[in-house]
Amino acid sequence: MTGKVTLVGAGPGDPGLLTRKGEAALRSAEVVVYDRLVAPELLELLPPTAERINVGKEADHHPVPQWRTNEILLEKALEGKNVVRLKGGDPFLFGRGGEELELLAERHIPFEVVPGVTSALAAPAYGGIPVTHRDFASSLHIVTGHAKAGSHLHINFKALAEAGGTCVFLMGVSALERICGGLLDAGMGADTPAAVVERGTLPTQRKVVSTLGRLAEEARQAELHSPAVIVVGEVVSLSDRFDWFDAPPLKGRTIVVTRPKRRAGALRSRLHELGADVVDYPCIETLPRQENLPLEECLSRLRTFEWVAFTSSAGVEVFFDALWRQGMDGRALSCVKLAAIGPSTAHALEERHLRADYMPPVYDTEHLALGLAERTKGPVLLPRAAMGSPILSRVLAEQGVAFTDVPVYDTVFPGEHAVALLPLLAAGETWVTFTSASTVRGFVGSLEPGTDLSRVLGLCIGPQTAAECVRHGIRTRIAREATVPALVELILNAAQE
Ligand code: SAH
Repeated sequence: MTGKVTLVGAGPGDPGLLTRKGEAALRSAEVVVYDRLVAPELLELLPPTAERINVGKEADHHPVPQWRTNEILLEKALEGKNVVRLKGGDPFLFGRGGEELELLAERHIPFEVVPGVTSALAAPAYGGIPVTHRDFASSLHIVTGHAKAGSHLHINFKALAEAGGTCVFLMGVSALERICGGLLDAGMGADTPAAVVERGTLPTQRKVVSTLGRLAEEARQAELHSPAVIVVGEVVSLSDRFDWFDAPPLKGRTIVVTRPKRRAGALRSRLHELGADVVDYPCIETLPRQENLPLEECLSRLRTFEWVAFTSSAGVEVFFDALWRQGMDGRALSCVKLAAIGPSTAHALEERHLRADYMPPVYDTEHLALGLAERTKGPVLLPRAAMGSPILSRVLAEQGVAFTDVPVYDTVFPGEHAVALLPLLAAGETWVTFTSASTVRGFVGSLEPGTDLSRVLGLCIGPQTAAECVRHGIRTRIAREATVPALVELILNAAQE
């Protein structure tokens, strides 16, 4: 059976601008053929088994020619695959989407089109420019500024000038001077407001607002590059008043997130919302222990414990998976009390409809141990990381509480990606979030021994994490409590100084 090709508009850059239909298509794709300008976050929606084919231009290789892209789509569909062709912005706006469908139509391959949010509208919108406005412009003209090497621009400047609406030029940065000159020659006023929005909708968006007469010069001084849109028309005069995107407090700030990927969601999306440029740099991964005989043994005699104390949501997950595999469920816990180190661990229990009987006032292992000691002499079951903090067992032992420490997962260091970080470290002070001592160890371990860490600022969730930073010569700041919201608050405070 032949497969199907879905032409999906990926939006202009901000991954939040993918449509729901586009997301559904990505989630069920078997092959995705994508371009250079597609947000990398979107590829994370793909099933892990999906084949990824990059046909865009990269620094070190030429783009796949259009005829070959068309052929790849055909070949994969003939193999019976569910193919997604993911294109920047909207696939039919200067995206050659139509060309890609021709061969498919000819060969009777089924296809669908999912429109996308085009940069022609989104980049001005993120620059505070409404492309039409009752008082200023009643038409919009979207024009390509692309000219084949050495050839003339084929733009009817006279018609644009006479129409009097807003003009948006795509692919026009390298021809900016000729575009502005063309409009001026056609009679448009030199004082007509005009702007360039570079990398629109991305955290690194930049904007130059000027007049038609001066735009080319000012854009050159600001060293604006592709991708960028040029907007010409009276509506551009609104861009300062409506400038909402440049306002977020963490705008222009790069922040490295070291949490394991699966758990980084809340932190990274909050930082992103606040305008930060978030760099995913997972420094640890949690691997559940398979065939965990010590855990199985403890589960089979849960009645003999008084408390089960959890120190991470990963521990909760692995514990309940093992319980389930052994043919038990939440009822098996009716005989024990439950402790959680902090709110996100307690939340993992709540998701299983269980309440924590105890959560310490300060969310760290020392306070958990002291709190437990006030309530029990044990035995306490501690299903936690193999490399969990030794403080917990030490304080419990000092307090005379009996406990069984059962490793349920191992913490491993991916450590394969240090290269991505080097330009950041070289550029100046680098802000890195640490949510556990193990993320600090993973971070340091991922770098060459001897790397200068004096310019790293460790934004730490708690004192134990900070202590690990200090051990490696990393300067620190510590959140007022060990929660993600408090960590975000710490970052906002640091950014305001
Ligand atoms: N189909 C795409 C356009 C493809 S042509 C769309 O609908 O957006 C490529 C041009 O799009 C670039 O040269 C640039 O002018 C514009 N572009 C794409 N992404 C952009 C972005 N994030 N910010 C500004 N312009 C962008």
